[in-house]
Amino acid sequence: MTEAAKDIDVDVLVVGAGVTGIEQLHRALKAGFSARLLEAGDGVGGVWFWNRYPGARLDSESYTYGYLDSKELFEGWEWQERFAGQPENERYFNYAVDKMGLRPYITFGARVTSAVYDEPSATWLVKAGDGTELRTHFLIAATGVLSIPVFPDVPGRTDFKGIAHHTGLWPDEPVDFRGKRVAVIGTGSSGVQVIPAVAGEVASLTVYQRSPNWCTPLGNEPITAEQQLELKAGFEQMRETLNESVSGFLHQLREEKTFDATEEQRREFYEKMWVSPGFSKVISHYGDMMTDPAANADWCKFMAEKIRGIVKDPATAEKLIPRDHGWAGKRPPFVTNYFEVYNDPKVSLVDLRETPITRVTETGIETSEGLREFDIIVWASGFDFGTGALNRMGIRGRNGLALEDYWSDGPHTFAGVMAHGFPNFFFPAGPHGAAGNNPRYGGDQVEFIDDLIQYSRERDYRVIEVPEDVEDKWNRMVAEMAAYSSFGEHSYFYGANIAGKPKAFLLNPAGRPMLREMIGAVLENKYQGFLA
Ligand code: NAP
Repeated sequence: MTEAAKDIDVDVLVVGAGVTGIEQLHRALKAGFSARLLEAGDGVGGVWFWNRYPGARLDSESYTYGYLDSKELFEGWEWQERFAGQPENERYFNYAVDKMGLRPYITFGARVTSAVYDEPSATWLVKAGDGTELRTHFLIAATGVLSIPVFPDVPGRTDFKGIAHHTGLWPDEPVDFRGKRVAVIGTGSSGVQVIPAVAGEVASLTVYQRSPNWCTPLGNEPITAEQQLELKAGFEQMRETLNESVSGFLHQLREEKTFDATEEQRREFYEKMWVSPGFSKVISHYGDMMTDPAANADWCKFMAEKIRGIVKDPATAEKLIPRDHGWAGKRPPFVTNYFEVYNDPKVSLVDLRETPITRVTETGIETSEGLREFDIIVWASGFDFGTGALNRMGIRGRNGLALEDYWSDGPHTFAGVMAHGFPNFFFPAGPHGAAGNNPRYGGDQVEFIDDLIQYSRERDYRVIEVPEDVEDKWNRMVAEMAAYSSFGEHSYFYGANIAGKPKAFLLNPAGRPMLREMIGAVLENKYQGFLA
């Protein structure tokens, strides 16, 4: 160990006890590093800790979402539902943390407010809001892409005297919706989950919608005892399939093209797709669904008919049909009894394109149509996606370079894990992550970091930094391939939901295969240029 290394408190400091941070901490300890984890919340689970709103639920199959490195860990937990709800997910992460013996290494209630790189010692001094101060050799921010809730910029928002919560900052104690006049603002994946979950209890429910989404049935169901046995018996095969899968799901790609099928065959297939679970409706759809606009429009026409068939009031049905994007033009939400709730006379839909919110008052919400009074307002208004958390952490790299300045025109990364000018700093499952089943591609990144820090330790290097040209190559790939993504510039994947946010693609548009290819090239070159 060098002189400089003596001053550190830990070798590895992880920030965030979500799905990725937990795995990174586990790996660091397993590799024999001294490690700690700082978590802003009071518990583990990341999004599954913060998003405890009624109806919050996975849309990746539960058993494909957890940690799959250890068969023992897998076998010790029986998922109850194909798509587990928030309480079950939170319980799972607590189970996993305890089973892996990680809890003693986690400090809760410690939101990192600054992290400054010290060039001579090649270490980071990290400070948190609770007064924690730690010097670490490697800083790994697993702070998530959907961890900074945002509110619409409407006048008077904080004047409201009733109960108001953002879905991403939901309180621990239950919110009593019984007999209440409730407003939900936003109809993204969170809004469309909370709406049917509370509709049965309320006195009235008013949904404020700016843009509808292509919502389709989630297809949740309990996992039977027989299926539990099958899952256990098929564990290795499942893990292998997930490891090889482009997007980290078990769903298989389909080669057949839309218009190779007759109208009758398409209709039959669409009926099957409509009820097929979760992301199978994206991955196992006709192979040209994302590339042929006519194919996409044909499926959208079918979905529009479905919506018209479910929602009895024709005017409401029309408002619920998206017109500004096709299938997967935005991240599609998956729902349970969503469209059905609009047949309940207690539920009404306000189209904000027709009647925008003018202000929030002490008692309710005023649109150009007038004031409606409420007891509860649910803000399901989204997040500062991708860069939100990292840009707020006070990260200062070489020569005091602020991460938010380096990223002032959007993220510059290598593989969505490192940035030039920020040595010994990593951010798995952050911006430029692949789209898909989060823990699977996040796991690829965690593994890359784990291998890299072990490699540098074995050879006594102190500094790990991505070379500029390697980072440039990745960023050029992102810029070029973004044009082929199904996500349009109006989606939050381009930062479109935040006023003033630079328009830059925030995902890895070429997905897991490209991630592996570019990481593979670095490994083949034995991290050439990365280590000093
Ligand atoms: P979101 O998809 O960004 O949706 C935010 C909603 O708020 C949109 O309907 C948006 O309308 C509306 N909104 C934003 N600003 C507004 C304004 N100024 N006035 C009126 N309406 C406004 O956020 P989210 O629903 O929280 O979901 C975020 C992501 O979290 C999802 O895409 C998904 O990746 C993840 N998530 C996953 C699950 C799951 O099933 N596993 C559940 C929840 C969330 P516009 O569309 O017009 O902008």
